[in-house]
Amino acid sequence: MIMGECVALVTGGSRGIGRAICLALAGRGVSVAVNYAGNEAAALETVEACRSLGVQAQAFQGDVSQPAECAALVKEVKNTFGRLDILVNNAGITRDGLMLTAKQEDFDATWQTNLRSAFFCMKEASRLMLRQRYGRIINLSSVVGLRGNPGQAAYAASKAGVIGLTKSAAKEFAAKGITVNAVAPGMIDTDMTKRLPDAVRAQMLDTIPMGKPGLAEDVANAVAFFAEPAAAYVTGQVLCIDGGMAI
Ligand code: NAP
Repeated sequence: MIMGECVALVTGGSRGIGRAICLALAGRGVSVAVNYAGNEAAALETVEACRSLGVQAQAFQGDVSQPAECAALVKEVKNTFGRLDILVNNAGITRDGLMLTAKQEDFDATWQTNLRSAFFCMKEASRLMLRQRYGRIINLSSVVGLRGNPGQAAYAASKAGVIGLTKSAAKEFAAKGITVNAVAPGMIDTDMTKRLPDAVRAQMLDTIPMGKPGLAEDVANAVAFFAEPAAAYVTGQVLCIDGGMAI
């Protein structure tokens, strides 16, 4: 395979880290399927930005927290582009709160969007990749999944789950030409972190040896590395992109 012949599906590609991943892949010649949940305008902006880099791109609405929508999404991408070589499970949400006051609906929405989505998108995409005997799967975990964080038990559990999922799938597919890796970002400037109260933000910045938040592009470049055909002998890894936060 060469990068310029690959087709990628990026869940939650409309904004933030997902958008940066779409652009990083498009910049390397990859055709991009940009998934989004509700923000069509943002998805179409990402699509236009990818096309301006000279690749094919299209937006695909789909709520990946629902297994049936994961299946429909992967099918639609295959019907549109003819193949699927790179899957980036990026869609994610936070519903923060202390355990004592946490609601079941928030816990459920968090694991369904952050973890179940990755499982079912991988399950569907891997059927195609197994037939192709080629695939690159990259999952978005988080430093919070490695270290925990007060007020983020549900989020941390979902992101720790992503690591278990990544390592298990890596072993299942290792002999079939499919690699499965994860990135664990620290604090990255996106809509997700803009919502943090100033005090929490300042506290988090104090724990980053580099003393500053990262950019969506910092994460996207690492994802693009795992997506390369040349990364063929790297699987089951979790790479922190965090300015040293998890050291
Ligand atoms: P963001 O700016 O809030 O963007 C979230 C993206 O996910 C949007 O494109 C959104 O689509 C999509 N999305 C949400 N729920 C979805 C669903 N059910 N189905 C399909 N798409 C859905 O978030 P971000 O900061 O870029 O985070 C991206 C990933 O990195 C997440 O998995 C997050 O947990 C992880 N991460 C982020 C940080 C950070 O500091 N920002 C740190 C560690 C890990 P719409 O535009 O349609 O709403």
